[in-house]
Amino acid sequence: MASVIDLPAPTEHAQPADAVQNAVRAKVNLLGMSRAELEGFFEQLGEKKFRAGQVMKWIHQYFVTDFAEMTNISGKLRAKLEQVCEITAPEVVHRHYSKDGTRKWVFRVGDGAGSLVETVLIPAEDKTGSRKTLCISSQVGCALDCSFCSTGKQGFQRDLNPDEIIGQLWVANQSYMEDVPVAERERSVTNVVMMGMGEPLLNYDAVLSSMQLMLDDFAYGMSKRRVTLSTSGVVPKIDQLAQDIDVALAISLHAPNDELRNELVPINKKYPLEQLIAACQRYLAKGGNESTRKHVTIEYVMLDGVNDHPEHAQQMIKLLKNLPSKINLIPFNPFPHAPYGRSSRNRIIAFQKTLSDAGFVCTIRQTRGDDIDAACGQLVGHVADRTRRAEQWKKKVAERQEIIRSQG
Ligand code: SF4
Repeated sequence: MASVIDLPAPTEHAQPADAVQNAVRAKVNLLGMSRAELEGFFEQLGEKKFRAGQVMKWIHQYFVTDFAEMTNISGKLRAKLEQVCEITAPEVVHRHYSKDGTRKWVFRVGDGAGSLVETVLIPAEDKTGSRKTLCISSQVGCALDCSFCSTGKQGFQRDLNPDEIIGQLWVANQSYMEDVPVAERERSVTNVVMMGMGEPLLNYDAVLSSMQLMLDDFAYGMSKRRVTLSTSGVVPKIDQLAQDIDVALAISLHAPNDELRNELVPINKKYPLEQLIAACQRYLAKGGNESTRKHVTIEYVMLDGVNDHPEHAQQMIKLLKNLPSKINLIPFNPFPHAPYGRSSRNRIIAFQKTLSDAGFVCTIRQTRGDDIDAACGQLVGHVADRTRRAEQWKKKVAERQEIIRSQG
């Protein structure tokens, strides 16, 4: 992975003092470092590796950014750390807490005016208790240009670094602990979905490293079941992920046949459905008995007159018949210039019933945080459509609706 540590590679003759001298030039941000990276960092400083675990706990469990507060670390080491490193989360430029408990943040990342990314936290109660699910962004913009997605309309700007990715989780947790004494602080976010702006598998190394921190007991210690990576279907990277980490997998499917999916999720032209479903099957098989990988979550945004026809539900049944899966129907959240509308409630319920009757676990995502534009890509939102895609799409959708209407 791309190193976040700007220290020279240790050599036989390198002295700890050299490492300090080099690091002084630009302070190293410890926030996004994995345990292995932090251990290496402390070794370069001439310190014992176990310091890494201590510092990680202060950062990720007690949300402390001031080395002076790290009371189990000697004064001498704290002074050295202050000299060479920092713990800095991305800058929050906007935050809003909705009446229904949903929270959103817009972060500025990068130097100067920087770029904006967004993060949304959605609370829910279910039979397992209270959940707080954080939807995290992995890129600024996105290159994949899914036609229903406001992020896709911004184009791709850049990948986020591990500190910018894990920083979203850090800020969300910290937002509940601002007034809590350090000794009583705890982690509040229970679930993470890598499903915000960007395609996480196209920023693979940084996303993998961030998810490893989420699972690490010295950091967030989250259950593997509660960390989900959602992809539009970058098939070779799904196979790589299967080797590298055991987390839950979600697929942004949105269409049950290649013709429609080529239009809605253009990466389907490169990795068509047959390949995608096979990759999901390999992902589940790779887990073995000990794995949390029992099923894949299928995300399906409901677009009025586009992918919500009864025939589409039948195609889904056929497509997924050999893939253990749970289906999540997402009512579309229109954004400015969106070329689609949201399917009617009746249509969504009918679609759900068809899938449930066929034996699938099929849920409808509750629309939350409507008062704060909580859908993917909308917070940065009101984005100018620089590409005229919306106009082209309006036309295509009208044509498709006409075909569907004429088919009855
Ligand atoms: S839906 Fe996801 S993969 Fe597709 S354009 Fe939007 S952010 Fe990118």
